[in-house]
Amino acid sequence: THFGFSRVPLQDKQARVDEVFHKVASRYDLMNDLMSAGLHRVWKDIFAAKVHPSRKAPFRHLDVAGGTGDIAFRIAKAGSRLTEIVVLDINADMLDVGRARAAKRPFDAKLEFVQANAEDLPFPDNSFDAYTIAFGIRNVPRIDVALAEARRVLKRGGRFLCLEFSNVDVPFLDRLYEAYSFSAIPRLGQWVTGDADAYRYLVESIARFPDAESFRDKIAAAGLERATFTRLSGGVVAIHSGWKL
Ligand code: SAM
Repeated sequence: THFGFSRVPLQDKQARVDEVFHKVASRYDLMNDLMSAGLHRVWKDIFAAKVHPSRKAPFRHLDVAGGTGDIAFRIAKAGSRLTEIVVLDINADMLDVGRARAAKRPFDAKLEFVQANAEDLPFPDNSFDAYTIAFGIRNVPRIDVALAEARRVLKRGGRFLCLEFSNVDVPFLDRLYEAYSFSAIPRLGQWVTGDADAYRYLVESIARFPDAESFRDKIAAAGLERATFTRLSGGVVAIHSGWKL
């Protein structure tokens, strides 16, 4: 079951991704709740809790593919006025939604929104204490380039964390999940956003993304050390971690 996106040449892939998120930006948060029955909030809570912004010393955090701010807001809440968080996304529409949401939330932490590509981060080497990317890396055309950039901008001792859909490793649940994602999600997308194709792309990109072990190996190959992962919800998603040592 493929919808043609896998045949898109690498240089056009980013353009397709941008089109998808341009279309869904205003309904993005609602769709996440509907598609995951609210579970994405739990996954994001568990994920963001792995970042421990020091409350007594400056802490610089980078959230890549930060979209509408879900991860950044959670880290901001845990931080202090010494916490600086950059929300980086390639898509201006997603960042606009993020900025509007941020304006309604009181934080001590400082938030900054930057439009840029995960493959080409506009920061000097050794700039950040931690790097997160949630449901973003599978959209990036060259994952190895994004990982190398993550390592480059991290300070020594800094942590890389990724939350992403993964491979379901529970018998029966895998079949159920496949049926749900390939048929129910595009229909739900059609119903809520009027755009089934954007959600076909989403499901297809999840199916194509490497399994948890292979992705861990890519992280290690990028020079991030102690690469490990934890599966959540039977492997529907996984959290990968690595360190710049
Ligand atoms: N992290 C947010 C969350 O968990 O709700 C947003 C995730 S959303 C599924 C994926 C985001 O990745 C979109 O906002 C999209 O614009 C962004 N994105 C896609 N390709 C990118 C790239 N090459 N560099 C940076 N961001 C990118």
